[in-house]
Amino acid sequence: MDNTLQQGTLCLHAGWSPKNGEPRSLPIYQSTTFKYDTSDAMGRLFDLVDTGYFYTRLQNPTNDSVAMKLCALEGGEAAMLTSSGQAANFFAIFNICEAGGHVILSSKVYGGTFNLITVTMAKMGIECTVIDPDCTEEELNAAFRENTKCVFGESVANPAVCVLDFEKFAKAAHAHGVPLIVDNTFPTPINCRPFQFGADIVTHSTTKYIDGHASSVGGAIVDSGNFDWMAHADKFPGLCTPDPSYHGITYAESFGRSAYIVKATVQLMRDLGCIQAPQNAFYVNLGLESLAVRMERHCRNAQKVAEYLKANDKVAWVNYAGLPDDPYHALAEKYMPKGTCGVLSFAIKGGRDDSIRFMDHLKLISIVTHVADAKSCVLHPASHTHRQMTEEQLAEAGVDPGLIRLSVGLEDVDDIIADIEQALQYV
Ligand SMILES: *Cc1c(COP(=O)(O)O)cnc(C)c1O
Repeated sequence: MDNTLQQGTLCLHAGWSPKNGEPRSLPIYQSTTFKYDTSDAMGRLFDLVDTGYFYTRLQNPTNDSVAMKLCALEGGEAAMLTSSGQAANFFAIFNICEAGGHVILSSKVYGGTFNLITVTMAKMGIECTVIDPDCTEEELNAAFRENTKCVFGESVANPAVCVLDFEKFAKAAHAHGVPLIVDNTFPTPINCRPFQFGADIVTHSTTKYIDGHASSVGGAIVDSGNFDWMAHADKFPGLCTPDPSYHGITYAESFGRSAYIVKATVQLMRDLGCIQAPQNAFYVNLGLESLAVRMERHCRNAQKVAEYLKANDKVAWVNYAGLPDDPYHALAEKYMPKGTCGVLSFAIKGGRDDSIRFMDHLKLISIVTHVADAKSCVLHPASHTHRQMTEEQLAEAGVDPGLIRLSVGLEDVDDIIADIEQALQYV
């Protein structure tokens, strides 16, 4: 496959190139296991000497085709699918950061990721420093410790919709000998390719725009292959010293630029088993086929809705980087000139109660625990996704108690605006 083709073409053709007489559509390999002619042939797979499929808890050909497509879109070296975005973020960090390690985390990340790292991974002995992504370089540099293993942020934060300053984050991470991991769920590789700006590893909740039709939960990890693990071997013993569970193989030596994904597959997938079902990978692939077309329309619709809300007297504020006076407009122009995504946030002047009243009167736009989908939807983070957070944590995450997250879908934008207009009459 020629990975220099344009993004819109890769969406359709990367990852699966049928040979003569093979199915045009990506087949679903609905099989837990794979057959070998000799005992030795299978034994060599377990030694990681030969590559091949043996058990779908670790790898499946349908999943790998979809991962390769995503890898081509991100411009990466290797990729894998996971059962959810949460699993992707957990694997991405845990693959290089074990008990005793430390993570620097942007305060504006998705509530689920914030909980995963600051509560659940803390129970595993992983420390975390939360920083405001708009901090100065000095403040960012001051967050690093001897045991820091990675820096984690979101390219466009959910739901704060602020844009990460990739170059500032990559520079600080690399100066301290650790990779920058970026969750690129909201812009998708169509609007932003974090590897171009120094990110080393990208994660996705494919549940959102990539699937795009709210049909299947899934995640993905893509590695740029650029981070030189061996140059920082003391920090990353898991990649740079022999793994006794594979007869002493050293991933960074044996697998070079693919070492990180190989380790996450053969070690974490083997032991934790958060594989994506091949059937779900098939749906993710269908979503990817139209991703470039959909992202363009999502952005165009969201821009019009943002402009409409901005001009309305009942609306207190609107966050959307496509608006010229948005604080993240310049960063968005630099890192994602085609647009950010279809998600915006705003609040009604009356605050929390009016925001809720407005949402309850929407007809076309539905209240769901979902975002970045073909159908327009809303959510009130303070009552829903971020319910577990204290007032201070909400403020730190950039979540105003009146904040409404509006995910602008692919409907005719006039109908979306008409629905908002009729619901605004009730506040
Ligand atoms: C939804 C989301 C996740 C979690 O993904 P799931 O597929 O729901 O597990 C992680 N990061 C971001 C930015 C998200 O929007």
